[in-house]
Amino acid sequence: MLTALPSPGESAFSAANSFRARRSLLWISALLLTLFVFASVALINIARSQNQAASEQSLFYVKKALDNRQKRLRASVLDYAFWGDAYRNLHARLDLDWAYTRQNLGPTLFDDFGYEALFVVDAQGRTPYAVIDGKLQQVDAAAWLHDDLGELLAAARDGAEVGEGVSRVVRLNGRPALVAAAALTTGGDTRVAEVPGPASVLLFVDALNDDELRTLGEDYGIAGLRLARNEADARTQPSLTLPVQDGDLLLRWDASEPGHYLISLVLPLLVAAGLMIVGLTLVVLRKALLAAREMERNYASLQAGRAALAASEERFRQVAEAASDWIWEIDGEYRLTYLSERFEEVSGHTCQAWLGRPFDDLLSSAAGSVSAWLDGHKPRPGSRSVLQCSYVAGDGLERACCLSLRRIAGAAGYRGTAADITEEIQARERIEHLSQHDALTGLPNRNRMQEFLDGKLQASPTREHPLVMLSVDLDRFKPVNDALGHAAGDRVLNEVSARLRQCLREGDLVARLGGDEFTLIVTGMSSQHEVERLCRRLLARIQQPFLIDDNEVFIGASIGIALAPADGTQAEELLRYADIALYEAKEAGRDTWRFYASGMNERVIERRLLEQDLRHALRDGELRLEFQPRYRVDGQRIAGAEALVRWQHPQRGRLAPDVFIPLAEETGLIVPLSDWVLRSACEEAKSWPSTAFVSVNLSPIEFKRGEVVERVRAVLEETGFPPAQLELELTESVMLDDAEGALQTMLQLKALGVRLTMDDFGTGYSSLSYLRAFPFDGLKIDRSFMNDLSNSEDSLAIIQAIVGLGKALTLTVTAEGVETADQLSLLLQVECEEAQGFYLGRPMAAQAFRQALRDNA
Ligand code: C2E
Ligand code: CA
Ligand code: CA
Repeated sequence: MLTALPSPGESAFSAANSFRARRSLLWISALLLTLFVFASVALINIARSQNQAASEQSLFYVKKALDNRQKRLRASVLDYAFWGDAYRNLHARLDLDWAYTRQNLGPTLFDDFGYEALFVVDAQGRTPYAVIDGKLQQVDAAAWLHDDLGELLAAARDGAEVGEGVSRVVRLNGRPALVAAAALTTGGDTRVAEVPGPASVLLFVDALNDDELRTLGEDYGIAGLRLARNEADARTQPSLTLPVQDGDLLLRWDASEPGHYLISLVLPLLVAAGLMIVGLTLVVLRKALLAAREMERNYASLQAGRAALAASEERFRQVAEAASDWIWEIDGEYRLTYLSERFEEVSGHTCQAWLGRPFDDLLSSAAGSVSAWLDGHKPRPGSRSVLQCSYVAGDGLERACCLSLRRIAGAAGYRGTAADITEEIQARERIEHLSQHDALTGLPNRNRMQEFLDGKLQASPTREHPLVMLSVDLDRFKPVNDALGHAAGDRVLNEVSARLRQCLREGDLVARLGGDEFTLIVTGMSSQHEVERLCRRLLARIQQPFLIDDNEVFIGASIGIALAPADGTQAEELLRYADIALYEAKEAGRDTWRFYASGMNERVIERRLLEQDLRHALRDGELRLEFQPRYRVDGQRIAGAEALVRWQHPQRGRLAPDVFIPLAEETGLIVPLSDWVLRSACEEAKSWPSTAFVSVNLSPIEFKRGEVVERVRAVLEETGFPPAQLELELTESVMLDDAEGALQTMLQLKALGVRLTMDDFGTGYSSLSYLRAFPFDGLKIDRSFMNDLSNSEDSLAIIQAIVGLGKALTLTVTAEGVETADQLSLLLQVECEEAQGFYLGRPMAAQAFRQALRDNA
């Protein structure tokens, strides 16, 4: 997978290499430059020393030139001075004719030799003979030469003894001039007689004008020999200082400066060579730099590429590790030829165990074997196919995977990946299950039930083999929840679910629709009898006690039944009808079942309308109170009155409480309704004599709610009605569900100061024991006992017993439903204390009762 890339070390090495190459190049360049500088300096030094040498040589030649000129002049003057004729004609005597006219020592010296002047100075220093510029003149030599000449003359006379002349340089008209002197001698000419005394001296003057000076220099290879032209020229080398009588004369000539020549010749070459070196160095350096930069860039991009590759490898590795995918290959016969390592981890099998074996042995798809699928689909080369498969993992559990495969190019086999999707599928199944089932009990929920029901209805049930829908609602379940807590309630629900399921056959369905409502869908029953048997079994199972934390809990159930197709063929219809039947079953006293019957529906609709109306009634003040007097049996005096509610319905007229109180209880409207009754009753009774009580009925529903004590207290406070004048009528059902709670509530009510009476005594189960245990002040014998009183000995006996019990427990006993004088007299006979009934007084409006009170006073 990896291409052969240099290792990081190698790359660093090549980078360092380029750096080193650059550095050595720089070193070489620097060395060359130094050499170049050294060569230049040496060259300049050589040139300078050459110039120096040349300068020294030229000085030597200039001196030589001057010397030679003087030597010649001296030789010339000597030649003439050591001549007997000259001695005779110019010293011994002065013969101008001989000397000048005959040109023995005259103009020819000027014309032929260029000697500007010649003088003969005698012993007295006079100048008897002077020829200047070839012309005879009478001039004093010392004056003409601006020189006293003493020294020169003495030297010349001294030199005569050894046969030598003398010479020197003088300034003449600002220019150098050579003066040579020699004493006149006989020159060994014996014909000439010597004259005693110092000899005259012959002086030759060779003035060096500019041309002569230059020519003199050129004769010795010196160019431009001259008198220094000016101050600046005087300061320049080479030069020669000639001391003369009144200062110095400075000779200058042009320096030959061979060094300059050398420099002018070699230096450009050197500079050119240097420039070439610099240029070359620059070029090479630039190239090296570019190359180095390129190399660095390459290196950087290589590094980046390597990093990216590493990152991608790491990513791939992580993905590969994190993913559950494994990679496989099969040959043309669908035998495994390759399995990636992940296979072992994911499947729990070893690769070794499976390589070479048929793919089908490992995997199978829902559609059949993988090989059959491949043969059927024949995936084209280049295209990708996906197939969901399952296999048995090493741990024996089934796992699901998703094959993604391609035909191997140029071969008969396939290769691909297998992604483990077991968890995904399980999650999907879980979600599906959750959406279809109740979380608490695990029973199918409304969705699932709906689906199931739709499915069953599509199978078209017949009257002979109907589909039976049972709506089951638990009775007395809420108290369990309230008293033992929700956890206990949940356990009861779970247990109920299990028991319901046990009563059904495979293929039937129990669903929980929420709360304590269940729906059962049952098929395969051919008679009503069979359905009833099921209901009986269901109720029996539910009525068996539930053991929750050492508490035995008893609940019951009511069942409503609807049949398809008899009652309906639509799921919704069936559900509604089963619910209506359930309601009827509850109405019928619970723990029973009802089949849906036409007519039930209308009743339900009517109730719903009534419920709406009742809400309005409370708000719009359609409720009225009537008061039915209660008399003391002996003196027939009014003891008080029971407040009875009526509803003045705008359309239906006056409605009795039996019609709407159960409705109010079911809908919760009982609380506001009862508040209204309590408040109205207290308000009304405030105008009564303090001996007359008002009695108000409390519904068991509101009593169980708990806030009844507060509500009564509030009404008493608001109305300011004396609690002792208020009596509350309770039925024994108040104590049935939650005896302990009821006791507490009753004690709290008693603490308020109100009286408590047990209503409808004798109709329930165990009234007697309750009477003893609960703080009642009175009891009202149910009016059903009155009906039989006249013609039944038993009834009389019962009433007698009740009255006796009441007396024993110091309870006020009231007989209800007294309709005849006979009944009243019998009550008197058994010493029943109080009576209430149509015979004594019908429920009447407040106004009427007030009148009755007045009449009775
Ligand atoms: P109840 O508490 O037993 O009230 C007495 C019922 O018996 C009253 O019916 C009354 O009119 C009727 N009655 C009285 N004397 C006779 C008689 O000699 N013969 C016959 N056949 N009946 C007689 P009503 O007013 O229709 O009340 C029915 C029930 O409605 C009451 O029974 C009571 O349980 C309930 N109720 C009435 N008013 C209220 C109320 O304000 N709150 C609550 N919670 N329930 C009420
Ligand atoms: Ca009553
Ligand atoms: Ca009653």
